[in-house]
Parts: sequence; structure tokens; C-alpha cells
Amino acid sequence: MARKAFVGGNWKCNGSMADIQRLTEMLNAGEYHDNVEVVVAPTMLHILPVMQALKVPVGVSAQNCYFEKSGAFTGELSTEILVDAGLKYVILGHSERRHILKETDEMIAKKTKKAIDSGLTVIFCIGELKEERETGKTEEVCFRQMEAVRAVLSEEDWKKVVVAYEPVWAIGTGLVATPEQAQETHKALRAWAAEKVSKTVAEELRIIYGGSVKGANAESLCTEDIDGFLVGGASLQPDFMNILKVTH
Ligand code: PEP
Repeated sequence: MARKAFVGGNWKCNGSMADIQRLTEMLNAGEYHDNVEVVVAPTMLHILPVMQALKVPVGVSAQNCYFEKSGAFTGELSTEILVDAGLKYVILGHSERRHILKETDEMIAKKTKKAIDSGLTVIFCIGELKEERETGKTEEVCFRQMEAVRAVLSEEDWKKVVVAYEPVWAIGTGLVATPEQAQETHKALRAWAAEKVSKTVAEELRIIYGGSVKGANAESLCTEDIDGFLVGGASLQPDFMNILKVTH
């Protein structure tokens, strides 16, 4: 079956109110097609103004959520709060949260299950460190990260997951994975899903690539098992629109 392509723009901890206005104007001037789902993830303070300013079919995602419903959790946002505000997506498991904020596989799995139960689609990020790739541990690491969520998700839940394979050594470094490297890992992830979840889930699961994607390299990365991109740096630039144009 044909999977609908997906492109996410992860704005991370960036942007002034003026930048946000410039970015929404850029998005509003773009052309969108039914075969590509486009989502941007502003900071939590910028989510609502971005939602209000967007006049085109571009979804808005949170960059994090918490697994408790409400209460004494200073600084956190529950999935109930996100859904109530009209959000449909959340990014979880990003390498910056795994490695800088020390989120564990278990915590990310809890958040993923809670987000899906609340009706959100989860952009679930996985990926290996440079030394893990160099020591041949890419699949072992990615499968371990996948297994943590597989253990808590039902087969139905996987319809609300977009896996973002983001080799950590490629994020924000300019060192993009080659199409062969990325395709190899995406293919292995799809085979893992077929074996561990189901053939149907494996066929339908969108697995997107992230790590120094730009307008100049995006088209070559549209291989058989790569269903789109999670874009960091370039999503804050006009080049994001070039990535959208070539994604299929
Ligand atoms: C990311 O942060 O998810 C990412 C892929 O960043 P960049 O595109 O800047 O490498």
C-alpha cells in the first residue's frame, strides 16, 4: 500500500515572536498536496499563535508531553492540555531529550502510550550515537528503543505512530546519512515491525528520516522505505519549502 509522506519541522528551542510570524507567513505562502502531511513543532509558548496564524493544511505538534493527567508537575504539559488546545501531534523520544534531558526508554514509552490514548499522533524518534554506529550497534540500539514502545502499544495504536529514524551523529551536524545508510536502517526497522508487531503495521508504518536534511539532499533520500523527514535547522529557513516540494 502507498504510505502518505510526512514532513515535520522541529523548531526546537528557537524563535522570537517576529521569527514565528515570518515562519507562518512562509508556510502560508506554500502549496500543499494531499500526498504529503506537513506538521511543524514550535516551542510551547509559540504553539497557539502559530495555530492561529496558519491558513494552510499544516498541522502543529508539541515537542514533549507528560504522562500524568494534571496536578503538581511544574513545567510539564499533559496530553489533556495539548488535546484541549487543539493539538494533534507530539514529538517524543527526540535525541536531545534522551541525551540532554536524560529521558529513559521507559519514560518515553509511558508518554507515547498516554499520548496515543489521548488521541495524539506521536512522532517517535529513535537513533544511534556516532560510536554506536561505528561499533556496528545501529540496529541493536534502534530495536531496543522500538521494543520499549512495542511493549506498551496495541496493534491498533501503531496507526498513531510515525517513527523518525534520526542518527544522533547526523542531527544538526551537517553530516547527513547517505541514502544507502538511511534506506538500510529503515528497511531493517520495517522488517522488525513485521516480525514483532504485524505485516500490516510494517506496511502501513511511516518511517521518516531526520538528520541534516536540506532542500539539496532531500530528494535523494526519498527511497523505498523512507516516507519523509523530520527537519530541524532547515525548518527555520525558506529551504523548508524546497524540502516539501521534493518529498514524495
Ligand atoms: C532534528 O532536530 O530532529 C533534526 C533532524 O535536526 P537537523 O535537521 O538540524 O539535523
